[in-house]
Amino acid sequence: MRKILTPARLRLAVQGAFTLFLAWTAFRFLAHVRWAMGQTEIWTAKPPAVEGFLPISALIAARRFFSTGSFDPVHPAGLTIFLALIAMSFLWRKGFCGQLCPVGLVSNLLERLGRRLGLTRQTSQRARRLMGVPKYLLLAGFGWVALSMSPAEAEAFLRAPFNMVADTRMLLFFEHPSVVTLAVLGVLAALSVVIPAFWCRVLCPYGALLGLASWLSPSAITRDADSCISCGRCARACPVGLPVDQTMRVTSPDCQGCAECVGACPVPGCLGLRVAGWRIPWWSIAAGCLGVLVLASLTADWLGYWQSPLPARMVRRMHMLLLGQPPDF
Ligand code: SF4
Ligand code: SF4
Ligand code: SF4
Repeated sequence: MRKILTPARLRLAVQGAFTLFLAWTAFRFLAHVRWAMGQTEIWTAKPPAVEGFLPISALIAARRFFSTGSFDPVHPAGLTIFLALIAMSFLWRKGFCGQLCPVGLVSNLLERLGRRLGLTRQTSQRARRLMGVPKYLLLAGFGWVALSMSPAEAEAFLRAPFNMVADTRMLLFFEHPSVVTLAVLGVLAALSVVIPAFWCRVLCPYGALLGLASWLSPSAITRDADSCISCGRCARACPVGLPVDQTMRVTSPDCQGCAECVGACPVPGCLGLRVAGWRIPWWSIAAGCLGVLVLASLTADWLGYWQSPLPARMVRRMHMLLLGQPPDF
């Protein structure tokens, strides 16, 4: 009998639902920005989740948090989401990438398109490893900048006017993309049709950081060598080209926790998810990732680390001075 709940379907459903949530968040943020820039008098609160799109600010806030114990005074939800994703990666591998990230959804759809059109190209293991180097170099660069800052410099960065409106700048960047931006996005999309998850595998420093956090994870996809028939379907289904059919336990920092390999395996029980040696259902990755995110946001809200503490009047003045028409003093 054909299974209704498969890893590929659940992944697509969760990615789609999360992307819809983020689209709703972006819509509310747009209304907030219109108010902040003086284009309307109808106030809309800033949805805290948009701060999750400020990874560099969150990295510097994390550096300051671990050296001084002080939480981010400007984008607290950004730091909360950053820490939640690190914890999520440790618990559920890069489940954020495989199950939630909207860029992961686009990668997933482009990969499906490539497979349907017969354009997908497999890479050798040596090429796969070399392709992954640029994202670690980018991560090293950002990490070096964050770690070389003193706590006072980090504080100055976080409280700088530029950082206070960084989320708005990001929104305006994507609302009015330049020709160069569109061309770069087009090239990345075309490459992702041929080489699955091209951006994630080659260039995303956030994914590289989550991969390093997942390296020590007690959870992993495992293979039962006794029942394996060496058909290779798992490796062909893997979006990041891991040799699942040749390993007993997938510990690579590239594993996105998508469970596509489990869905592709024709032998029941041969491939599965284990946490500290215990076999648990493959859908636990999606459920666990959502659980971590919900728990982190509820806890942060309770502790006062979710909503931005900046007064609305100050936010509006800052936007008008930096991005809109200066107020008539
Ligand atoms: S690698 Fe980066 S862009 Fe890709 S799914 Fe992960 S966080 Fe998102
Ligand atoms: S090894 Fe399995 S879970 Fe990991 S990325 Fe490949 S297909 Fe997804
Ligand atoms: S798909 Fe299953 S049976 Fe085939 S090689 Fe992979 S683990 Fe073995």
